[in-house]
Amino acid sequence: MSPSRSPRTPLRRAEIVIDLAAIRHNVKRLRDHLRTPIMTVVKADGYGHGLVEAGRAAREGGADWLGVASADEALALREAGDVGRLLAWLIMPSEPVEDLVAADIDITAYTVADLVKFATAGDELGMTPRVQLKIDTGLSRGGAALADWSALVARARSLEAEGAIRVTGIWSHFSASENPADPISDLQEKVFGDAVAIAEEAGLRPEVRHLANSAGALLRPGSRLDLVRVGVATYGIDPAPGVEGSPWPELGLVPAMTARAELALVKRIGAGEGVSYNHTWVAEEPTSVGLVPVGYAEGIQRSAGNRATVWVGGARRPVRGTVCMDQIVVDLGDADVEPGAEVVLWGTGADGEPTAQDWAEASETIAYEVVTRIGGRMKRRHVDSDLADDTSVQGDDR
Ligand SMILES: *Cc1c(COP(=O)(O)O)cnc(C)c1O
Repeated sequence: MSPSRSPRTPLRRAEIVIDLAAIRHNVKRLRDHLRTPIMTVVKADGYGHGLVEAGRAAREGGADWLGVASADEALALREAGDVGRLLAWLIMPSEPVEDLVAADIDITAYTVADLVKFATAGDELGMTPRVQLKIDTGLSRGGAALADWSALVARARSLEAEGAIRVTGIWSHFSASENPADPISDLQEKVFGDAVAIAEEAGLRPEVRHLANSAGALLRPGSRLDLVRVGVATYGIDPAPGVEGSPWPELGLVPAMTARAELALVKRIGAGEGVSYNHTWVAEEPTSVGLVPVGYAEGIQRSAGNRATVWVGGARRPVRGTVCMDQIVVDLGDADVEPGAEVVLWGTGADGEPTAQDWAEASETIAYEVVTRIGGRMKRRHVDSDLADDTSVQGDDR
């Protein structure tokens, strides 16, 4: 593929364009590089790229598993026709699991109560739920504490022996894998190893043991085990920007999302004129400003005001003043740019346009948040630059 450029499709108002070829390419590259089966994480609407579309492109790229947080996400993938292995890890106490079991979704148990609930659902359906056990190795988020682990695996083993469940996996999640200097990851790997040993002693023989997210998979080869759960890297976003020794630069992964808009208006302002609410920026000399129809209602961080840049008329132009609910103002200087011109907020970066990472830095957040939050009134469409011409539109989904 040649997905180096942000997509060229007709522009409308404000939109998010997703290149499915980039997702496919990224999964393939990751799989080749990591030499480990991959679970592509498509939670949170595929990190803003579209749950179903991202899942489909990931499967085409070779994803062995898909991973999601919620029951609804897992069921939506099945409804859209996905039939591969699929893990969900954040099932609520109030949520029935019969549909998940019937749809052949692997579900995660944190507690004995979860196991009992899953076994009961399987019994009612006459099916054997596929269950993965999560051990909390130090994040203090989901999963069983080490103190509760022996009881969890003992109960899982006895339910398995009765044929009430099948334990397919044991897994955990890193706290700081993007920071190789943090010793917590070594400790987490050790606790995980201990937890797996306890489970094996209890008689469990899971198909997959998995621990690594994108950064773990890339930066800690020893953590790849049987399966890696790769989220953000799938979308062409570096999970650990600037980390020395990271294989990221050689991988050639491509950002899949371009956020762009039409320029609504261009006008001159004079020296001393303030821009946007509270005049947090004042022109020192006459300049042209352009109005872009996206704001914090679209998920643009307010903290990007006076800090981010956008790409218009072949150059990066600074955002001036406060980010409003519906719009931002950018400084065009003396450039000859007309209303209706394309404004790229972020894209692949190949032409010099900012990337989601640039926006993350400008907003003091992480690129994960930039891509998952963008939306609001923006339309999203999927294109495929692997097809003959990269203007082929796959359809609108919002
Ligand atoms: C979100 C998530 C991932 C993916 O993390 P990335 O850093 O995006 O690769 C993996 N595992 C779990 C449990 C997650 O919640």
